[in-house]
Amino acid sequence: METFGTAINCIDGRAQQPVTDWVRLHCNVKFVDMVTCPGANAVLASFRTDRARHIVEEVGVSVRKHMSSVIAVAGHFDCAGNPVSYEEHKEQILRCADRIRNWDFGVRVVGIYVNEWFSIDVVCDSQEDFPQIKSWL
Ligand SMILES: [Zn+2]
Repeated sequence: METFGTAINCIDGRAQQPVTDWVRLHCNVKFVDMVTCPGANAVLASFRTDRARHIVEEVGVSVRKHMSSVIAVAGHFDCAGNPVSYEEHKEQILRCADRIRNWDFGVRVVGIYVNEWFSIDVVCDSQEDFPQIKSWL
């Protein structure tokens, strides 16, 4: 059974594997479609460019054609395209998750952050109520 998840992620090579691994393990899917652009969480949070609209279209292909069951939006430590503080990354990720939920794809939405140890901090998850950030190694 080929099951898919979708991740909106930075182009940064250091962020690909941690995001793919986390989504596969914690969202129980075999493959993760990756929609990337530099500083993707900032692009999507502000939604001021054509790139942001393209992200919606690309995520739509993944959800409709691959029946993806989850959309993850990721930020990461030391992002060249989005050099902001951890707090600001979290704010952007939360804003992205709200936006994605409003697209009404009807799938799980998670917000995650790749920290300086290349492990994942869960910022938000539409299926769970996270009272605080959880780190996963
Ligand atoms: Zn980056």
